Amino acid sequence: MDHIVYIGIGSNLGDRLWNCRRAVELLAQYEAMKVVRVSPWYESEAIPVDGGERGPQPWFINGAIEIRTTLSASELLAALQGIEREMGRELPRSKGAPRTIDLDILLYGGAVINEVDLIIPHPELAKRSFVLAPLCDIAPHAVEALSGHSVKQLLQNLEAGFRVQAHTDSNSRLCAVAHIAQAQGRCNASR
Ligand code: ADP
Ligand code: MG
Repeated sequence: MDHIVYIGIGSNLGDRLWNCRRAVELLAQYEAMKVVRVSPWYESEAIPVDGGERGPQPWFINGAIEIRTTLSASELLAALQGIEREMGRELPRSKGAPRTIDLDILLYGGAVINEVDLIIPHPELAKRSFVLAPLCDIAPHAVEALSGHSVKQLLQNLEAGFRVQAHTDSNSRLCAVAHIAQAQGRCNASR
C-alpha cells in the first residue's frame, strides 16, 4: 500500500537551492517512491540551537514535498539519511551546525511513531514556520495526528517568530519579503 508522506527539506551550506533540488531528484530515483508535489522554496532565518554553534548562521532554503511510498517509516528514514550522506552532510555533526542538506519526515500518513531515532509527526512541526509555510502550500488539509489540527490551522496558530520569506530563484531576483503573517495569508489565499 502506498503511504502519503511529507518530507521537509533544508540547506544552509553551499549552493542551497541546488542542494534542495538535487535531494528531490535523488528521492525521485528510488523505485519505491513517487514525488507527487514540490512546494515553492522559502528562505528562513537559522534558529539558534541550545549548545549549537555560536554566531550567526547562513539563512536556510526550505521546502516540503509530498511523496507516495511503499517503504516503511524506518526504511524511509534510512533512505533519507543515505541521501544526506551522499550529498556530503557530515555525520555526526554538532547540533545546530550548518548543513548541506537536512531531510526530515514530517508526516507519515496518520502514523504516530515514538522510537529513539524516529519521531512522527516531526516533534518540531507545529513550532516551525519554515516547515509549515511550504507544507501549507502543498497540503493545507493534511492532519497532524497528535493535535488533530490541519497544517493550515497549525500555521495560523503560530506566533510571528523567525522570519520566513518566499525565495524567488528565477534570475536571482530580489526576494519578496513575506514575514510569517504573509505566509499565513498566502495559505489562506490558496484555498
Ligand atoms: P534536525 O533535523 O532536528 O535539525 P538532525 O537532522 O541532525 O536534526 O537530526 C537527526 C536525527 O533525528 C537522526 O538521528 C534521526 O534519527 C532523528 N529523527 C527523529 N525523528 C525524525 C524524523 N521524523 N525525521 C528525520 N529524522 C528524525
Ligand atoms: Mg534532520
